[in-house]
Amino acid sequence: MPTVVQHDADLTALNSFGVPARAAHFARISDTDELQQALDFAAEQRLPLLVLGGGSNTLFLGNYHGLVLHVANRGIQWSDDSRRVTVAAGENWHDFVSLSIERGFYGLENLALIPGLVGAAPIQNIGAYGRELADVFVELEAIDLQTGKHHTLDKAACEFGYRDSLFKSDPETQWLIWSVTLQLQAKDQPDTSYAALQKVLAEQGDAQVSAKAVFATVCAIRRSKLPDPAELGNAGSFFKNPLVSADKLAALQAEHADVPHFATDSAKLVKLPAAWLIEQAGWKGKRRGQAGVHEQHALVIVNHGHATGEEIFLLAQEISASVLNKFGVALQPEVRLIHG
Ligand SMILES: Cc1cc2nc3c(=O)[nH]c(=O)nc-3n(C[C@H](O)[C@H](O)[C@H](O)COP(=O)(O)OP(=O)(O)OC[C@H]3O[C@@H](n4cnc5c(N)ncnc54)[C@H](O)[C@@H]3O)c2cc1C
Repeated sequence: MPTVVQHDADLTALNSFGVPARAAHFARISDTDELQQALDFAAEQRLPLLVLGGGSNTLFLGNYHGLVLHVANRGIQWSDDSRRVTVAAGENWHDFVSLSIERGFYGLENLALIPGLVGAAPIQNIGAYGRELADVFVELEAIDLQTGKHHTLDKAACEFGYRDSLFKSDPETQWLIWSVTLQLQAKDQPDTSYAALQKVLAEQGDAQVSAKAVFATVCAIRRSKLPDPAELGNAGSFFKNPLVSADKLAALQAEHADVPHFATDSAKLVKLPAAWLIEQAGWKGKRRGQAGVHEQHALVIVNHGHATGEEIFLLAQEISASVLNKFGVALQPEVRLIHG
């Protein structure tokens, strides 16, 4: 067995729900030699592979019987002239955002304090406060885990959508993202168009808002609203906001005149806030044993201390079933579910 591969590794600290789970095989990958050793071992043993970053969008439903590849490569290449930056997948996302603003590379301030690593950011095209990764994305380097070959994928190839990308939908290829290249700006001109952000900035009386001010405000809002996974296990929003047709919205409005909704890029689809649907179905603050729905945020499922992945999953299923029953709207998990 190569030295990079460990047996029977504890994954409790590598998932932000903090549920107990073990990996039959585990490798921390810092460079391409380590990756090759791990891939050779997996091929020899015919093991399935799971790529894991910080585990903040992952729910383990039990132990994982294959090989976990925990991405840990580091390094950032800043191009001061063009404000282009290439970041290794194993860098911490928030630390990178913070460094970029310090260095005068602007454009990521709205995406501050999203937990996890850089390599996971393209997977669901992370987004918050009116911005998403796709807004600044240029290309990424990814390794096809079946062939071991490196590929460069540009923005069109990544097929970004709302909390979606090629990497979520491609059943053929298992990719490991190795680095991500972004185009940031020298101009300190943050996007403050998102209503909830604008409101707080206005209350603070910030007339000329800088990227640093937006970064600090986004961090403060997030700290006040979202539970810290270090204190209360969670993975942020458990479900995606569902997209429904205009006809479906009209049918819902006939019974619930106040249903909130948002326009999307498609004229045919509107987005409904999953949190509103869940709250209306009576779930906010409810518990099922050690698993529960957060008291301030109906979209956040939490581990009250000793929940298993299975318990959290069962609660999520119960919530989806009751929303489907009440509104006829199906919820899709945003969190990646790992079944053994
Ligand atoms: C408190 C809290 C708040 C959050 N707020 C937001 C938010 O505002 N917006 C938002 O979009 N998300 C949010 N999230 C979700 C999460 O932070 C993001 O999805 C983040 O990008 C996950 O990073 P990770 O490294 O922890 O991913 P992991 O959970 O380790 O992995 C997630 C998925 O990506 C895959 N993956 C990870 N790394 C790689 C790689 N290098 N190559 C290929 N596949 C990979 C995994 O296989 C898995 O399918 C929040 C989570 C928490 C806990």
